[in-house]
Amino acid sequence: MAGQGTPEDVMRSLNFAQDVSKEIKQANYQMDRVELKRLLAELTAAIASSKMELSLLQGVCEARDNELIRLNEALVYKGNLRRRGDGYYKSIDGRPYGQPYCSYCWEGNQKLIHLHNRILSKDVRVCPHCKNEYQAMRTPFLEAEGYTA
Ligand SMILES: [Zn+2]
Repeated sequence: MAGQGTPEDVMRSLNFAQDVSKEIKQANYQMDRVELKRLLAELTAAIASSKMELSLLQGVCEARDNELIRLNEALVYKGNLRRRGDGYYKSIDGRPYGQPYCSYCWEGNQKLIHLHNRILSKDVRVCPHCKNEYQAMRTPFLEAEGYTA
């Protein structure tokens, strides 16, 4: 009965654990050992499942937090990113500088992915994320005047 780490999944497994403990309580500890053992095993399993759902939920929350941070960064960068040739660059006073970012990843997903030189080639740059290739001369490293990156 593993869920997807939604709050509903957590509640469902907690409710199940509660139902089992109610059953134990209602029997007023007067049940036979075999039955009690079975219920305790069920309770243990229900609690383990709640724990798992909770950690899944925590993962989901962290992933959403990270996505929010990423989108916020993208929004901040949006204002000072400049397109030059086939790449995007950070800019100072409207002047692009530094290493180029993949234009496909930025325009499609607001992801800032630096282009890499393709191994054994100084004419081709490649995006490690989407694998698009760019001409190095259309995506040069830009020195920033009076600024060392
Ligand atoms: Zn890309």
